[in-house]
Amino acid sequence: LLLRNFSSHRMWMKAAMLIGSMLVFLALQLILHLDVSWTQHMAYRPSTQSIPISAPWEKAFRNYENFHARCSEHRNWTRQFLEATVESNRSNSHRRFDNCRVLVYVEGGAGMGNRLLSLVSAFLYSLLTKRVFLLDSRGNLPKLLCEPFSNSSWVLPFDFPFKALDEAATLRDFGKATAVSKNSSAQVVRLQLDHDQSVEDGRFFCIETRESLQFVSWLVWTSNQYYVPRFFTFPELWQPLKALFPNVTLTFTHLSRSLLLPSNSLWEKVTRIYSSYLSQADWRLGIQIRRHSVSDKGRYDEPAFDRVLSCLISQKFLPNIEFGNNISSRQETRNSRIPRHVNHAVLVTSLQVKFFEKLRDLYSNTATVDGSLVRLHMVSHEGVEWHSFDQDEKAFIEMWLLSLSDRIATSSFSTFGYIAQGLGAMRPLLVELRGEISEQMSMEMSHVCYIGQSIEPCNHFPFYPTRSQCAVIQTARSNTHLAWIRRNLLPCQDLPQGLQLV
Ligand code: GDP
Repeated sequence: LLLRNFSSHRMWMKAAMLIGSMLVFLALQLILHLDVSWTQHMAYRPSTQSIPISAPWEKAFRNYENFHARCSEHRNWTRQFLEATVESNRSNSHRRFDNCRVLVYVEGGAGMGNRLLSLVSAFLYSLLTKRVFLLDSRGNLPKLLCEPFSNSSWVLPFDFPFKALDEAATLRDFGKATAVSKNSSAQVVRLQLDHDQSVEDGRFFCIETRESLQFVSWLVWTSNQYYVPRFFTFPELWQPLKALFPNVTLTFTHLSRSLLLPSNSLWEKVTRIYSSYLSQADWRLGIQIRRHSVSDKGRYDEPAFDRVLSCLISQKFLPNIEFGNNISSRQETRNSRIPRHVNHAVLVTSLQVKFFEKLRDLYSNTATVDGSLVRLHMVSHEGVEWHSFDQDEKAFIEMWLLSLSDRIATSSFSTFGYIAQGLGAMRPLLVELRGEISEQMSMEMSHVCYIGQSIEPCNHFPFYPTRSQCAVIQTARSNTHLAWIRRNLLPCQDLPQGLQLV
């Protein structure tokens, strides 16, 4: 019956129109839904943030994208390549993967900021050492981030045999680093580069280890660190890095704007919140309050609030307030019409709602000395951190919203704040909020809050192996390289043992 009906001309026409409109719909979906954040986010940024992309970086990124697409041409290539490498079963059909050595980024148990920074570091290392960069699909990041390459995916398939990665040897299993050699049977090696890595894992920072890792087909990278500043000290990477990022203080800005774009559904949430609460203001301020106190991690406390407020006012990030002085009526007497106030929208992000409530109540109940209006907003207040998908999503949305501000105030030592300042290419007002504030009363004001020396995140634990840990003594750096390091790499202001590109 169906066939008879279809044979009639009208039915064919209808079917063709239906299929045609479905195709148009699918094409529109693809056009509209692909990489929305890629193309749109610059329109939401203040003009001070419109930094042109570094041309050498863009070229390298496009070349990498083509390389990634070439390796991903064959369906199921990752599984086939793994089988070929693990079983040393290098049949001719697997030779096609020989130039497709891989680096898989596996999310550790850290917060969003730490994970994003280490993802970016791992990607840059892959690009520089000609490896295909892939994300472990079991983590949250693949669901939160936009796919950055136009013709291929950076996510490992869900049915990938992850056991081979999870159970692979680490540098600890090799004793002296030189044991990972061209002839070694290890074709999958796990690099554990967290802040508390062991001495053996830290042999990654020996040049001879990195040389020997070239012969390993699969590297698995777990870390919670932003190693990009440290890469600039590697003799073999310094020149290429310098060429990619002529303005080193924008290194993370370029990397994050290429790699850390939110998925379409997240981007919709970012723009909805931005348009509802922030877009109408003359001036947008982002405040990120993160407590890393010793005794009571993350809780609200009055001394911390007082410090944040006094820093914001003294550094002119917020207008001053005058208790009991009706400033706005004084201004209005000059002109019978309603005066034009400067309109501040302030986004407060914190685990603790009380930081927001106190600021909001203060600016609602008290006039500002210059008559400007201050509206405060908060998106979430999670209380405690536990790294669920939901919490990661909120954190990422807030990092993005903070990054769209005109100015940003962040908390010392917080990678959450680093992501926002980097995306927004802003030097933050850093407020020292570690430890017990009440015990730090004698601290100099210049150590309590200060404008950051750079847009760049800090590499908290750059890890320098001692001479006895590396077989090759690290004297391979040229004098020009050393002079460059002295000029462009400084101790972090919020953690002097850390390393920062400036
Ligand atoms: P860091 O610990 O300050 O370096 O920042 P991370 O982002 O690495 O880890 C902190 C985690 O706590 C985040 O991933 C969030 O899950 C949570 N968190 C901390 N502060 C905030 C905040 O202001 N907003 C939200 N939504 N989550 C936060």
